[in-house]
Amino acid sequence: MTTAVRKNDLSIPSKMKAWVLDGPEQLRLVEKPVPQPGLAEVLVRIDAVAICGTDVEIITKGLPAWIEGGLPFNKNFTPGHEYMGTVVKLGAGVDEYNIGDRVAVEIHAGCGRCERCRMGMYTSCLNYGLNYGDKNKGHRANGFTTDGGFTEYAVNHVNTLAHVPDGMSDEEATLIVTAGTAMYGLDALGGLVAGEGLVVTGPGPIGLMSVAVGKALGAQPVILTGTRDARLKLGTQLGADHVINIRSEDPVQAVKRITGGKGVQYVMECSGAPNSLNEAMDMVNRGGRICLAAFPGEPTPVDLAKLVRNNIYVYGIRGEGKSATHRAAALMAQKRFPAKLIHTHTFPLEELQTGFKYFRERIEDAIKVVIKVH
Ligand SMILES: [Zn+2]
Ligand SMILES: [Zn+2]
Repeated sequence: MTTAVRKNDLSIPSKMKAWVLDGPEQLRLVEKPVPQPGLAEVLVRIDAVAICGTDVEIITKGLPAWIEGGLPFNKNFTPGHEYMGTVVKLGAGVDEYNIGDRVAVEIHAGCGRCERCRMGMYTSCLNYGLNYGDKNKGHRANGFTTDGGFTEYAVNHVNTLAHVPDGMSDEEATLIVTAGTAMYGLDALGGLVAGEGLVVTGPGPIGLMSVAVGKALGAQPVILTGTRDARLKLGTQLGADHVINIRSEDPVQAVKRITGGKGVQYVMECSGAPNSLNEAMDMVNRGGRICLAAFPGEPTPVDLAKLVRNNIYVYGIRGEGKSATHRAAALMAQKRFPAKLIHTHTFPLEELQTGFKYFRERIEDAIKVVIKVH
């Protein structure tokens, strides 16, 4: 095993520690060669990586990770996608970043050549997973179709990097991409939310960041719904004007009460609850917009007539497209909201499995569990 690199020592070893996924639920710490950056790529020394619900899905079910045309099991694949670090080596043609720069890393680079990538919708790349053999279209999505961040080093395209401001901790910087996802959802809703009402349903990491980003963009009122008072309190600290515990009050009635019967212009659905779209349709006014950032595990009935009669728009988003991460990073650099509040636990790389246990069982009210690598 390599010895841990000191914070300011940018020398690069030849081998690194990396977790790989064997079968479902079977993570194993191995040694891998440190990868080399190619054209327009840099080598990032991973300083911190956050655990996400999607990592749990990948580790248990495989999807949405897709490696060499199939499920990611037993392929020496390293998961993990919410990471930040320090640029330690530049590939050919890179002048956008310097060695020593601290960067947050977007998950999706896409292929850069399909219709959607060319539109900035690289999280919906049409060549998803095509990066091997004679099907190589160069697609990249860290921890989904290529090696991710539960390791010491990773290669990343310059398009996926955002500078981390001085004074922001490594742990907080892992949340830039989470805030970027919230920003992408608000972009889908039209982006001009100042002075308009926003309901966020579900106080998970993306929901809480949707509250924070929506408030920073001027939405009013910002209303958060959820079931746990501790999470709702965090929502208030991140900018929610009103919080609703749906165990004690019907969320639709509460939104009507708060808005004087009018409803809101936007709903960001971050709960994945089966009836959430039906409820969101009753929270928005006519012509309102709903963005789905979470989804139920099973197909679920929806009152489509209500959608059509009221000219309600529904959007689905995946990840953090259209450079939304840069806009989120700018808001965080301006200290517009205390994102670090949702970081609750830190473990070293060797204790990744403990980190997963805390995350999955919400031990000590865990929200964002960060693995500190360097
Ligand atoms: Zn994630
Ligand atoms: Zn593409």
